Amino acid sequence: MKKPVIAIDGYSSTGKSSISKVIAQKLGLIHLDTGALYRGVTWFALQNCLYEDGSINLGQLFSSFDQIELEFKNDNGELILFLNHIDISKAIRTNEVSDNVSFVAKQKEVRDFLLQSQRTLAQKGGIIMDGRDIGTVVLPNADFKFFLTASIDERTKRRYHELLSLGINTEEEQVKKNLLERDKIDSEREIAPLRQAEDATVIDNTNLTKDETINSILSHIQKI
Ligand code: C5P
Repeated sequence: MKKPVIAIDGYSSTGKSSISKVIAQKLGLIHLDTGALYRGVTWFALQNCLYEDGSINLGQLFSSFDQIELEFKNDNGELILFLNHIDISKAIRTNEVSDNVSFVAKQKEVRDFLLQSQRTLAQKGGIIMDGRDIGTVVLPNADFKFFLTASIDERTKRRYHELLSLGINTEEEQVKKNLLERDKIDSEREIAPLRQAEDATVIDNTNLTKDETINSILSHIQKI
């Protein structure tokens, strides 16, 4: 039997990636955190494509795509993102990347650059992909689609603690501001905006634990 293709979209810090990771383990699927790809391109831009004033030179970024090789390697079930053979899994979580990623991700050239590889990975089935436009644009024929949401205060708390656990020092107010800004840019952009697919199941997990959200998703999948 062909394994399912599952799309998980939603707002920043609703737990999409950590939840998808557990579901992948339980169902024997591959998990692809597509946000990490956009963060990887942003990290590359911050290293290599800056104007003197420190802002991102998009033209230079677009003409450098052939120098960007993004690859996930499996380390004991943990997918580690490498850019040109360098482990960037921690670097892509910094505030500097978070503050610039939505600007980079709204560019058509960037989305086109990452689209085909995401689709190719899903061709054989057996994958759970999380992001913003998976159910609407990347995999509109996914077998299951979920859209996660939660209150801004709850999401701020979660991201703040996640950053602290990664050893990244930050302020809660700064985290909240970044989440709101990214949600706004991601929802209002012209290409592939953050949007719930019409056939997605919406889960508000403000008052749910991670396990409860996972069980809710699994119960939908197993019902069918
Ligand atoms: O999932 P995460 O919060 O790490 O994503 C970082 C950013 O990457 C998002 O705020 C969004 O700008 C972009 N993104 C996107 N499309 C996706 C996944 C992420 O535009 N499928």
